[in-house]
Amino acid sequence: MNQDNIYDAIIVGARCAGSPTAMLLARKAYRVLLLDRATFPSDIMSGHLIHPSGVALLKRWGLLDKVAASNCPPIRQVKFDFGPASFVGHGPSIDGVSDCYGVRRKYLDKILVDAATEAGAELRDGFSVQEILMDGDRVTGIRGRMKNGQVVTEKARIVIGADGINSLVARSVKAATYNERPSLTGCYYSYWSNFPMECGEVYIRDGRFISTEPTNDGLTQLFVQFPYHEFQEFRKDIEGNFLKTLELTPDLAKLASNAQRQEPFVGTSNNINFFRKAFGNGWALVGDARYHRDPLTAQGITNSFQDAQVLADAIDTAFSGYQPLEVTLAGYELQRDAEVMPIYDLTCQLAALEPLPPFMLQLLNALCNNPTDASQFLGIIGGAVSASAFYAPENIQRILGTAENKRSPILSA
Ligand SMILES: Cc1cc2nc3c(=O)[nH]c(=O)nc-3n(C[C@H](O)[C@H](O)[C@H](O)COP(=O)(O)OP(=O)(O)OC[C@H]3O[C@@H](n4cnc5c(N)ncnc54)[C@H](O)[C@@H]3O)c2cc1C
Repeated sequence: MNQDNIYDAIIVGARCAGSPTAMLLARKAYRVLLLDRATFPSDIMSGHLIHPSGVALLKRWGLLDKVAASNCPPIRQVKFDFGPASFVGHGPSIDGVSDCYGVRRKYLDKILVDAATEAGAELRDGFSVQEILMDGDRVTGIRGRMKNGQVVTEKARIVIGADGINSLVARSVKAATYNERPSLTGCYYSYWSNFPMECGEVYIRDGRFISTEPTNDGLTQLFVQFPYHEFQEFRKDIEGNFLKTLELTPDLAKLASNAQRQEPFVGTSNNINFFRKAFGNGWALVGDARYHRDPLTAQGITNSFQDAQVLADAIDTAFSGYQPLEVTLAGYELQRDAEVMPIYDLTCQLAALEPLPPFMLQLLNALCNNPTDASQFLGIIGGAVSASAFYAPENIQRILGTAENKRSPILSA
């Protein structure tokens, strides 16, 4: 085949993992084909919280102004309420960013797709990839159906699966999974108007997790999570069970009673947790296709952005001739595993929705009167603080000791 007909990269999936990957490669002048069976703008089942580390990437990519202009307020503070007490704050800033955003996917994904095409990527939306083409064990391209029904074949130096949890690319190459854990929760969410909410709020109550955040167009998203085994029971009366869950937090229940739900409930029990091998001969995975975790700590969008940046850099280094592709892709896999594994463990721990152990309660209580360390704690989930540094025994002892001294003026004198 004529080399001109071979793309540098074909990316299957054009949302928060695929479009940034396409954009970053196209900005380096690679020839990129971006495919999605969806058309844009369109929504997808998802919460919206982007942590400061994700917002910092939007800023670096020159897209933060567009997100901020999408009629979505920044989230400057997060309230963390674990039952006996609560604290409000924000994590340390990353590249000058400490805000979160709760931008709806129909707006966010359109901004990302447009950024990819503006950078020069060729987008085919309404395009369903049906087959991953192989030459021996090497992936060489895709076959799929265009909007008009025509079936086409396209070839590339690398095919990237940004095609979500049920990735066709991952299934076709039989990407091995590891660190798997079953689905621990079920969840439902919807959108309310007349529900004033300036900060993001998170509540842990009686085996339930409740979160709210302001999103676009004056709406607030309310999200509840409950143990996986309750999903069938919950869905028998979604509205009744949702409101009953909100009653665990009287402030939210009161706000809800004066607010109007604007959209149907959306929910799932498919919150499985796993990693997949990130690369092989002629292929790589990015975003949910590569790594999936319970939505409780809202990592998916931020992680997709981070994956996109590291993967695009790895491909550029190899395609520029500095190192073999399998070496740079192995680096991508290693780096991303090391970066996300601590928060993956924390997410699975929290998603078990079990009563907080006494140590955790003691620690959270200690953070209530300690805005500096509370900020560090929030920074773990926001991506600015290393979990292992925060949980180091000497740091925990210091935090608990500070709390003890505050309670006992004689000791602190
Ligand atoms: C209930 C819920 C709440 C969540 N809340 C949050 C949150 O608050 N914050 C957060 O950061 N994350 C959240 N997440 C996770 C987040 O939604 C995902 O991590 C994120 O969508 C992953 O992006 P992605 O681009 O990898 O995949 P996706 O967004 O799933 O996109 C995959 C794309 O691939 C396309 N595709 C798939 N197969 C094919 C094919 N064969 N041919 C063509 N196109 C194909 C699909 O059409 C789709 O557009 C939540 C998830 C759920 C389920």
